[in-house]
Amino acid sequence: AKRIGVLAVQGAFAEHEAMLGALGAVCHELRKASDLEEKPDGLVLPGGESTVQRKILMESGMFSPIRSWIGEGMPVLATCAGLILLAEHLSNDARTCFETLPVTVRRNAYGRQLGSFIAEAKVRHIGTMRQNFIRAPYIEQVSPEVEVLSETEGHITAVRYKNQLALSFHPEVGHDTRLHEAFLRMI
Ligand code: GLN
Repeated sequence: AKRIGVLAVQGAFAEHEAMLGALGAVCHELRKASDLEEKPDGLVLPGGESTVQRKILMESGMFSPIRSWIGEGMPVLATCAGLILLAEHLSNDARTCFETLPVTVRRNAYGRQLGSFIAEAKVRHIGTMRQNFIRAPYIEQVSPEVEVLSETEGHITAVRYKNQLALSFHPEVGHDTRLHEAFLRMI
């Protein structure tokens, strides 16, 4: 079975584990540096609060090894806060983290009150999806080598760049497993 390391310090990691488990993958929770001794086949960076996740990554010693994994080409599925952690640039925050994804992301881009909604949009290679947004970021700018997978109401909400698949919305909510299947096929 494919072994997936799921960053499990905060946020919506359990939902990803349930969905990947149902698809036959085995998930390992990454909470501290010693959880990284065994290298997984793929990595999930879940939604949650990116500032909290970043702080724990830095303080726990997990930041550098995970950054190396991503740089070496380990397939990554990043949702929402995870997208923020990958972004090379943030337009409204100085606290970038891994900086492995050449895009500019805006945090809490939809405003606090309008922060949670569902939209329907096409995702390239997959088809139309119901997309759950929860105090979501969106992508303001992409480098030419980044493939835009989805644009929702005029904003980029899903991209692929080499081994990195990053989304503004939450495909782990609900029963549509197509994006998780696409991620597992990257392994
Ligand atoms: N608003 C969160 C942040 O800026 C992201 C929201 C989410 O992951 N659902 O980190």
